[in-house]
Amino acid sequence: MIRKFLVCAAAVFVLCQSVRAQAQLDSGPPPRAQVEAFYNQQISPVVEGLLKGSHPVPELGARFSELAVRARDKYSLHFNVGISLEYGHRKTGFASNHVDAGQVWVTLYAPALYDSHKQHQLTDPQHADAIVANTVALSMIHELDHAAHGYTSSPTASAEERAQNEIWAWAETCEKSMSVLAERGLPMTRKQREIYEAWIKAARTTMSQSWNDFIRNMYGY
Ligand SMILES: [Zn+2]
Repeated sequence: MIRKFLVCAAAVFVLCQSVRAQAQLDSGPPPRAQVEAFYNQQISPVVEGLLKGSHPVPELGARFSELAVRARDKYSLHFNVGISLEYGHRKTGFASNHVDAGQVWVTLYAPALYDSHKQHQLTDPQHADAIVANTVALSMIHELDHAAHGYTSSPTASAEERAQNEIWAWAETCEKSMSVLAERGLPMTRKQREIYEAWIKAARTTMSQSWNDFIRNMYGY
């Protein structure tokens, strides 16, 4: 069963931070209504497309469904998608995963996505909408790569355990999902391209020292 909720960030247990939002705007937070409108226009359609199997990139839709089923089966109960509108998570990343009491949560941080969209409207306006749409899909898939494969870290996990989980989860995301966007020349953020290029440079193996170094450096582990 797949359920979707709007959640308060304070209630979200952040166990994994995905790639940090690139946009760090200097101005204060925009009115919540603005973030909500952005969520309705730019995020919700992508989430719905993934949940309903109508994502415009079929391979990404199929991968999401495969991982969602795998995560659900692994933890027996529900798979939930949460959307946080709280600005407290603005700088922490685009998404997180959380497994608790037989439930799998993937939470998207709308303010971080909002900031990224604003930044790309300035630097690459032609592709801003597509970049954010692809970021939503990649973020959800990446968090499911954690959950479905068991690459999840408890709140007390060591830095080494967290690093290993990111090394493995990003390998999955690069190999099965970012590759689809890269091979088709579809828009991604500069950071996402860097991650994918690091994976290719590492000969697509988690045994690679350069891949381990890249991910550890990205997260500061
Ligand atoms: Zn991760």
